[in-house]
Amino acid sequence: MRFRKELEKIKTYEAGKPIELIARDYGVAENEIIKLASNENPFGASPKVVAKVASLASRISRYPDDSYFVLKKALAERFTVESKNVIIGSGSDQIFEFISHALIDRGDLVLQNRITFAMYAIYTAQTGGETVVVDSDRHDLKAFEAHLDKKPKIIYLCTPSNPYGDALFSEDIFEFLKKVDPQTLVVIDAAYMEYAAFKDPRKYIDPKELIDKFPNAIYTGTFSKAYGLGGMRVGYGIGEESLIKELHKLRAPFNITTLSLAAAAIALEDREFVKKSVEHNFKEMKRYEKFAVQNGLKYEPSYTNFIALFFGQNESASDIADALLKKGMIVRDLKSYHLNAIRVTIGLTAENDRFFELFQELRR
Ligand SMILES: *Cc1c(COP(=O)(O)O)cnc(C)c1O
Repeated sequence: MRFRKELEKIKTYEAGKPIELIARDYGVAENEIIKLASNENPFGASPKVVAKVASLASRISRYPDDSYFVLKKALAERFTVESKNVIIGSGSDQIFEFISHALIDRGDLVLQNRITFAMYAIYTAQTGGETVVVDSDRHDLKAFEAHLDKKPKIIYLCTPSNPYGDALFSEDIFEFLKKVDPQTLVVIDAAYMEYAAFKDPRKYIDPKELIDKFPNAIYTGTFSKAYGLGGMRVGYGIGEESLIKELHKLRAPFNITTLSLAAAAIALEDREFVKKSVEHNFKEMKRYEKFAVQNGLKYEPSYTNFIALFFGQNESASDIADALLKKGMIVRDLKSYHLNAIRVTIGLTAENDRFFELFQELRR
């Protein structure tokens, strides 16, 4: 069979290893495995969400309300926009997919940072676009500006960024947007915004302000990280009405499930749970920073729920990640980004203690 040429250039995305697989491969008991690899909320989901999902089990034979009325209304109220400014995706990943399909014609250019979320380039390649990378590790808007004359169709700004954890100032983003052609869509991937807003409010991007000032921008958020709903697959995009209308043409009906829909709506209400999660993260992050300094590791100050730890030339991050894996500790090796570094999700206090302990044991 001859597949589309575009597929030749695409490598299948390697998701974080699930606990079951490590248990099987290394013979470690499942309940002893600690996963600090996929930036999930270590507290799980809000107990209110768990209770709601359990109570809906008998309803799974029914399709959900495809207008997603309740969830859209809740998001619209949270961000002081209107429901017509909101689109729901199976994870914010699906919003990027819609965007790519809506805008890219073969050969169109998409601008992104050299080191950033790996899925942007995959959607770009799938739709026949060409990724142009800005040669910066942390997001550097001046470096992005140098490419604006190429008139990219889409620009991805990941803030805070994965896997570095750096975040842009909202003021700088608004200045940057003034220089961007109105025919270019700027995607603000705000998957970790809850953490950044807590650490430094100057890094918070207000979706309403964004789309009011710049109709060629879209804000994307997710329930997978601070809300603890990675397994439910719910994300959202907030944009100007005519843009959202076009994206809706690409959405299959019922693209999220009855349970996911209910879970997200309840999760959004439980602000206390998110606050607790973000505060815990902030506190534990400081312990990681201290640990890095004490152990001679370079780290990137992070506005997320993970930290990237960098190794010197005489030490291989991949070896460390593998050795940790054998002990039942899953972290993310950043080899695929050509970095000699690991990315560690901030866990529960005891899980973090265990990471520090295992790491020092390996180094001894
Ligand atoms: C996790 C993540 C997302 C969203 O993931 P979904 O589960 O698809 O919502 C988006 N961008 C970045 C940078 C992420 O790390």
